[in-house]
Amino acid sequence: MLADKDRIRAGDKRHLESVTEFILTARGAVLRFIQNLEYADRSTMTTDHHEAQAQLFKALMHPARLAILDVLREGEACVCHLEAALGYRQAYISQQLMVLKEAGLAQDRREGWNIYYRVTEPRVFAILDMARRMRGATSKGNRRKQAAKCPCPKCNPAYENVA
Ligand SMILES: [Zn+2]
Repeated sequence: MLADKDRIRAGDKRHLESVTEFILTARGAVLRFIQNLEYADRSTMTTDHHEAQAQLFKALMHPARLAILDVLREGEACVCHLEAALGYRQAYISQQLMVLKEAGLAQDRREGWNIYYRVTEPRVFAILDMARRMRGATSKGNRRKQAAKCPCPKCNPAYENVA
């Protein structure tokens, strides 16, 4: 027969075990709840549609690419024209054009020595105009400049005859 002290200890032990079991069960339930929340977050709040929109904004999220789009807004332009109009290096412009192309916003076309780029999704300009208005700008973007040093056939038709 157990002494009173031992009975109390045995009772305490059972109590501790049941508390521990309860805590472990509750912990499991909380973890499952959190996992379900995360799953719900992925499956219902973020859709492929949001992912596609984010990709579009990523392509637009660069000052140089916005400047390029402003030039292309006035019509097709060759890389050399963009180089002369914006003052960036050709490699840098080509790199930014590639991003716009991969985002489905621009397309290129080779003609002789020149590679021309044009915007294939003109609705992008509505987004840019909206962003400009949201940031308080009143005027449109840069107008197409007749860059004095531009060797492109559009700025210097004489070059076309040479080429
Ligand atoms: Zn030009």
